[in-house]
Amino acid sequence: MLEKTGVATPEEIEKVFPSEERLKKGPVVIVECFREIPCNPCYTACNQNAIKEFIDINDLPNVDHDNCNGCGLCISKCPGLAIRVLDMTWSDEEAMVRIPYEFLPLPVAGDIVDGLDREGNKLVDVRVEKVQNSKMMDKTPVLWLAVKKAFAKEVVFMKPQPRKDTRADETIVCRCSDVTLGDIRQMVEDGYTTVDEIKRLTRAGMGPCQGKTCGQIILREISMMTGKSMEELTLGTYRPPIKSVKLGEIAKTAERGEES
Ligand code: SF4
Ligand code: SF4
Repeated sequence: MLEKTGVATPEEIEKVFPSEERLKKGPVVIVECFREIPCNPCYTACNQNAIKEFIDINDLPNVDHDNCNGCGLCISKCPGLAIRVLDMTWSDEEAMVRIPYEFLPLPVAGDIVDGLDREGNKLVDVRVEKVQNSKMMDKTPVLWLAVKKAFAKEVVFMKPQPRKDTRADETIVCRCSDVTLGDIRQMVEDGYTTVDEIKRLTRAGMGPCQGKTCGQIILREISMMTGKSMEELTLGTYRPPIKSVKLGEIAKTAERGEES
């Protein structure tokens, strides 16, 4: 099943899952690594001897859940994103699930997101409690997700929910050319879904700042309205002049025979 669908079988999962007794004691690692590949950063990250030394670099991780203190240091070290930490003792109602997350934009604490199972199906709304994203984490942020206990063993990933947009149409997006959020929304509704198209029609991004401020806002608006991710979209093309130039200056340059 793993080879065909990428989803482990219940038997494979059971083999690597901590016992009920261990889960009752506090946070504990779950390593769902099922392929024999030359990799061992999980072992080198763990200073509790919870992930045993690999005899052969291709071995599967050998985890001693009783030695694990749930520190989570190994989560961001795993290139396969195969490690999470589950704390069934977090509160009376909720468990804490810590997962690696390498997508953008990152959620922020307080966001309500979709809790997904191993097949990517939504199980339940979950709350982002914390986002860890320090330099120590090898560019793999770790999300702390508060999950209703009944779902906590099955929630292994998350997907953001569309954000409700409360910003008014009158909000100025491009201060250089007085373009509002309403203007951008109208453009996208009319079928102009690239930054370049919107720039040419509204002049947003053509002022002295050359889109430094409005470019990202326009991208985000297109992304929200079209459902495309920000990564799929581009900021468009920017060309000189990069600052306002008076016609007189251009004329003087021409009189001197210089190129403008
Ligand atoms: S959570 Fe901490 S103690 Fe547990 S296996 Fe990972 S690094 Fe080791
Ligand atoms: S670091 Fe991750 S992918 Fe590599 S062996 Fe450990 S759990 Fe598996």
